[in-house]
Amino acid sequence: MKERFPPINKKCPHFLHGGDYNPEQWMQTPQILQEDIRLMKLAGCNTMSVGIFAWAALEPEEGKFNFGWLDNIMDKLDENGAYAVLATPSGARPAWMSRKYPEVLRVNPDRNRIFHGGRHNHCYTSPIYREKCRIMNTRLAERYKDHPALLVWHISNEYSGDCHCELCCEAFRKWLRNKYADSLDKLNQAWWTAFWSHTYTDWRQIEPPSHLGEGSINGLNLDWKRFVTDQTIDFFSAEITPLRELTPNVPVTTNLMGINQCLNYWKFAKEMDVVSLDSYPRWHGEQDDWRLALQVAFVHDLYRSMKNGRPFMLMESTPSMTTWMKVSKLKRPGMHLLSSLQAVAHGSDTVQYFQWRKSRGSAEKYHGAVVDHSGREDTRVFRDVAEVGRALKKLDDIIGTTTKSQVAIVYDWENSWAIDGAQGLRWEKNYIPACMKHYRPFWSRSVPVDVIDMEADFSKYRVLVAPMLYMVRAGVAERIEKFVSDGGTFVTTYWSGIVDENDLCFLGGFPGPLRKVLGIWAEEIDALYDKDLNYITPVKDGESGLSGKYQARELCDLINAETARVLATYTEDFYAGRPSLTINDFGKGTAYYIASRNDERFLEDFYNHLITKLNLRRDIETEMPVGVMARTRSDGKQQFAFLMNFTSCEQNIDLASAKFRDMLSGVEVTGRVTLPAYGVMVLQRQ
Ligand SMILES: [Zn+2]
Repeated sequence: MKERFPPINKKCPHFLHGGDYNPEQWMQTPQILQEDIRLMKLAGCNTMSVGIFAWAALEPEEGKFNFGWLDNIMDKLDENGAYAVLATPSGARPAWMSRKYPEVLRVNPDRNRIFHGGRHNHCYTSPIYREKCRIMNTRLAERYKDHPALLVWHISNEYSGDCHCELCCEAFRKWLRNKYADSLDKLNQAWWTAFWSHTYTDWRQIEPPSHLGEGSINGLNLDWKRFVTDQTIDFFSAEITPLRELTPNVPVTTNLMGINQCLNYWKFAKEMDVVSLDSYPRWHGEQDDWRLALQVAFVHDLYRSMKNGRPFMLMESTPSMTTWMKVSKLKRPGMHLLSSLQAVAHGSDTVQYFQWRKSRGSAEKYHGAVVDHSGREDTRVFRDVAEVGRALKKLDDIIGTTTKSQVAIVYDWENSWAIDGAQGLRWEKNYIPACMKHYRPFWSRSVPVDVIDMEADFSKYRVLVAPMLYMVRAGVAERIEKFVSDGGTFVTTYWSGIVDENDLCFLGGFPGPLRKVLGIWAEEIDALYDKDLNYITPVKDGESGLSGKYQARELCDLINAETARVLATYTEDFYAGRPSLTINDFGKGTAYYIASRNDERFLEDFYNHLITKLNLRRDIETEMPVGVMARTRSDGKQQFAFLMNFTSCEQNIDLASAKFRDMLSGVEVTGRVTLPAYGVMVLQRQ
């Protein structure tokens, strides 16, 4: 891993700060556009994302282009020392196009074509839509390729969803023929279609999954999701072709939506120069802010890991509220700076918003914005944004730095799809929450963690945690065996090693290909009602850091130890006395199997013991109060520590004799420091 990555674009070696900007909505009021420039400078913004939904303004009639207004905005940004994250407008179409070329409109799973309207609803296969995008993107690149304001290409917006039109169905069949080497026998075997007499005898019989038709073949469901990912990436690749030709030095990205299940983002990330994240946590909601902060941190770590430590872009966040949540709550004082710098702490080199100025009408007119309908600069939100602007200006030294982790947690999109699609056990299987629960003990002890998929290189880590590794794709078990035999520590749980990449169960005993490294075999798994509890207890108190009784809920695996030693057993029900935690020595390393979904105390004790036993590197060697988190970024020489208080109370932290400089206030810091409610400090180690 590199020690320091270059800035997102070398033209701007600073943090990018700004938001989605829609001047096309304000063409009738040029005084507002002039005022925007003044306010942007006042708010410390240096980057605006423009053109995201501007197709109707850029091409009001087919073949008649109007770039004058965008020229004006690009020039104004440059004249004022700011940059443009310039979008391609394919996220929404102009009405003339839908009317003249209905094939650009998406078809639903019930095979009805949608009407014009909304957004994010075009066909990814339509040759006409691809051609219209090619023409538009070529025009944009030709016009702005040498413009000094052009910094990053923002391709479309929040790609998602699928289309069931004939073009897409045919493309799916072609994709399948390629995957299964033109053999229906191979496809039928992989999908286990003999069940319910679903055997295909002609490629034309295959339809995408639909609530009106086939939904019961797990292999088909998975392959459809894989196809949708590939087809979306193919569309994205077609979009960027003219940009790569005309602007080879301008980085390309598209904004992804956290852990949204629509596409396999691991695959998509490989096609971008830099990954971008839209992040909208529900602060001050139904759970403690610090618990939510943990989930947000997990996602940020995932985005930093997607490009092997390369800083990402926080492309969208809200300066205050959203419009689409059940309750749209304001951020309390301090939370805007804290949540913005949390993204930076985990590897973002930008803080960007949806949106700069509130629209006067239509769907998102109440969504939080830097400039409210009042147009004033003396608002709480504007001051909060300006505070972030001032802070980011002091953090240039952090640009391009990253975080090296000895621990990786596996979160895998295909595994998630397979778990959600599997009938049985419990309707809610909670794979993602399980990953986050295993993340928490590292988070609370300031141990940095990468979040990776099962295709990633395991060799650079010392600990690999793979909760619910239900699907094990070809070659993964062998790489885990090598990781452990070379000295690594592997932890996995109940419901692992169950199916291969086509959702076919492994024969010969679960956890299938992981059986040897774990030294156990799983015989049955019990699903518990919410009211039910079992308990587990260590065989010997103190072993593996465990003591007393722990609660087991929801899923309890009934396993048999083979070469593994039993560290804990169940205490209740007909499986009392059977193993619930095992350890297996394998080569130079060890592999743990946690057989049941246990309480937080178990995970804290278990992982704390591991952190101590393996002497895992911590970002800050001090115990943090509950709800306070430390995270560092480094270039191998300089270290930058972020202390973040996600509670509504003042918190004290003892930094002992370590010496730091507070980068926001400039003062030297050592010993005991106090963070106010929702306070944050950025410290440079001296
Ligand atoms: Zn289609």
